[in-house]
Amino acid sequence: MDHLKILEEVKKRNPNEPEFIQAAEEVIASILPVLTKNPEFARLKLLERMLEPERLISFRVTWLDDKGNVQVNRGYRVQMNSAIGPYKGGLRFHPSVTPSVLKFLAFEQIFKNALTGIPMGGGKGGADFDPKGKSNNEVMRFCQAFMMELSRHISGRLDIPAGDIGVGGREIGFLFGAYKKIKNEFSGVLTGKGIGWGGSLIRTEATGYGLIYFAQNMLHEKKDSMKGKICLVSGSGNVAQYAIEKINHLGGKAVTASDSSGFIYDEGGITPEKLAFLKDLKDNRRGRIKEYADKYNCLYKDIDPKADHNPLWNIKADCAFPCATQNEVNGKDASNMVKNGMKLVGEGANMPTTIEGINVLLDNGVNYAPGKASNAGGVATSGLEMTQNYMGSNWTREEVDSKLVGIMKHIHDTCLAAANEYGKPGNYMVGANIAGFVKVAKAMQAQGVI
Ligand code: NDP
Repeated sequence: MDHLKILEEVKKRNPNEPEFIQAAEEVIASILPVLTKNPEFARLKLLERMLEPERLISFRVTWLDDKGNVQVNRGYRVQMNSAIGPYKGGLRFHPSVTPSVLKFLAFEQIFKNALTGIPMGGGKGGADFDPKGKSNNEVMRFCQAFMMELSRHISGRLDIPAGDIGVGGREIGFLFGAYKKIKNEFSGVLTGKGIGWGGSLIRTEATGYGLIYFAQNMLHEKKDSMKGKICLVSGSGNVAQYAIEKINHLGGKAVTASDSSGFIYDEGGITPEKLAFLKDLKDNRRGRIKEYADKYNCLYKDIDPKADHNPLWNIKADCAFPCATQNEVNGKDASNMVKNGMKLVGEGANMPTTIEGINVLLDNGVNYAPGKASNAGGVATSGLEMTQNYMGSNWTREEVDSKLVGIMKHIHDTCLAAANEYGKPGNYMVGANIAGFVKVAKAMQAQGVI
């Protein structure tokens, strides 16, 4: 059994899918000791089976813009693995969406969902639609056209999508309304719904809050805490906003935020008042982050996507939380972090660090948490929303938050235990991959060759 052989096969079967190959490569290398210890897993080709989507649906989405022009987009749903529960994972609306991006996200989701302890399989979907610059009516018409096809492939017991980049509360509302109309039923088919029509308290906050709860566990493990920590955050969307809020709650100081155009560096910290401005800017006015720098008179820099590093990650700080998108921290960024004495990197986004970047962090003893563990609070709370929908009742804010705290601690401890068992103490990446894999592998083994 040779991990290079499995990787070569993945590359051969999935040409032109760099993101999917990157995600697969990271996992395959960690899983090998498990396959050596459990030859039956290898014989049953459980890893190879996890690397192949159970179903990949691609469809045309046709809609009319405000000028009456016909627009054509491409929609997808990747139903990756249903061994431990119904497919679960977000929808992303962004021009960069391709089968490769969605397969990487769906593959990561298998492990993440398994780690939460809630019975959910892995899935992901979306479209190459860009919500930026579109009117509310255009977004609504797109969501309705998208759901016209997606509704054939999902249900509250089969596949339960949620939000991701470009899909927030507004889009979930339009998608849910369309599903209800098409299917003539009110069911918990999407999570991230509004409070009052099936949504769960704390779901909006959950990924960002969960990330910082996870980091707090990592710091406690080192007899340290979030108090007084200077934190770099990238992104200014859902995950970034609530990560900043929780950093503030726990006595830390977030000094950066970004969007796809540039970043701000506010040495005084993004206080609750400034965060309220940022939320309004991004969620309601859909403006650019530069406005923050203009209002609060702090540093703003354009991000040059062609540059060999991102200056945001070269600011001296204790903790870094990349919360924007994939591959936003490369080897050079990681080296800059090490040079500046970074103590902890916790991923809020999915796969924000390249493999080279991860190796630099781990080789230099930076406490590193992979997104599939540290950002699992969002999907875990989606799982809690599903449970409340099945039960037909609602939990209080305190109840959901305390469950989230417990789940993040459980994931943290599970990763450490698996890493210890396989001789990699303190390596959260190896621990997350192994613990997630073993849980799903056992279920697949029990269910036969299907
Ligand atoms: P949002 O759409 O709310 O925010 C995304 C943020 O990242 C925006 O600030 C956006 O800038 C920026 N961004 C997006 N694409 C790029 C890019 N190519 N380059 C630079 N900046 C970019 O998304 P979320 O906050 O929901 O998601 C952020 C990350 O977290 C994603 O990786 C997602 O998969 C992951 N995640 C999200 C979960 C959730 O519950 N929402 C759960 C787990 C993981 P701009 O405003 O310019 O578009």
